[in-house]
Amino acid sequence: MLLRDRVAVVTGGGRGIGKAIATLFHAEGAKVAVASRNVKGLQTFALERNQGGEHRLLPLRCDVTRADEIEVMIGNVIELWDRIDILVNNAGVSGLTPILPGAETGPGADPDRMWQEIIATNLTGMYRCTREAARHMPGGGTGRILNLSSVLGKFGVPGYAAYCASKHGVIGFTKALALELAPKGVTVNALCPGWVDTEMAAQGVAAGAVRAGVSPEEFRRRAEAQVPLGRFVAPEEVARLALFLASDAGASITGQSWNLDGGAAMW
Ligand code: NDP
Repeated sequence: MLLRDRVAVVTGGGRGIGKAIATLFHAEGAKVAVASRNVKGLQTFALERNQGGEHRLLPLRCDVTRADEIEVMIGNVIELWDRIDILVNNAGVSGLTPILPGAETGPGADPDRMWQEIIATNLTGMYRCTREAARHMPGGGTGRILNLSSVLGKFGVPGYAAYCASKHGVIGFTKALALELAPKGVTVNALCPGWVDTEMAAQGVAAGAVRAGVSPEEFRRRAEAQVPLGRFVAPEEVARLALFLASDAGASITGQSWNLDGGAAMW
C-alpha cells in the first residue's frame, strides 16, 4: 500500500496508459479520480474497481481542452476529498500534421485543425489542469505531478511536428514547474514512453503502414526492430514507473524526464 489515502487525479484515465496508472494507484490504496470526455467508459471502469468496498475510484467528465470543465472537475475532487496529492497529466492525442501541401494524411484530414487539437490537449490542457490542481496540493512532501511526454519529446518523426512539438514542450514545462514548485515540496517529472500497446499506438501503426505502403503487421515488425529490446512496452510497465515516482521512493526526484522505451532514446 504505497499510496494509502493519497488523493490522485488521472486525466484520460479510462483506457490505455491512464487506466493502467489509475488501476495500480487504486490497488496501492489511493483515492483516484479519472477524468476524460467519454464518461460512460469511466463509469464502467469505476464499477469494476469499486465492487464490494469503499468508493475510491471516481469517474468525472472532463475535456481538458475546456478550461471550464477542468475547473468543475478539480472542484468536484476537492469537494469530496479536500486535497490533491498526485496529478497525472496523461490525456493526450496524436495524429499526422504534415507541413508540405499535398502530403498524404487520409480522406478528410485537416492538418491545421489537428495541430490546434494536439497543442490544446497535450500542452494547454496539461498547463490548465496543473494550474487548477497545484494550489490544492498540501505541503509535507506528498505532492507529485507526473506529465506524460514521449520519446517524441526527445527526437523528431517526420509528419508528426505538432505531436513532437507538444511532447518536447511537456519536458520544458516539467523543468520550469519543478523549480517553481520545489519550495512547496511538490515534485514534477515527465515520463517518456516509446511505443506502448494502446489504442493510440494501434492508430499510429495503422497510419504508418498506409504511409509506408505495407501491412500493419509488417509496419509493427519494423517498428519493433528499431527498439533495442525488440518489443512494445506494456501500459502496466508505465504504471509501475509512475507508482515509483508518486510514492515516497520518488520524494527527491524532480525535473527529470524518464525514458521507458526499450532503449530507443538514451538521452
Ligand atoms: P489512448 O489513445 O489509448 O488514450 C488517450 C486517453 O486520453 C483516453 O483516455 C482519452 O479519453 C483521453 N483524452 C484524449 N483527449 C482528451 C481530452 N480532450 N480531454 C480529456 N481526456 C482526453 O492513448 P495512450 O494511453 O496510449 O496515451 C496516454 C498518454 O501517453 C498520451 O499523453 C500519449 O501521448 C502518451 N504516450 C503514448 C504512447 C503510446 O505509444 N501509446 C507513447 C508515448 C507517450 P477520452 O477519449 O474518453 O477523452
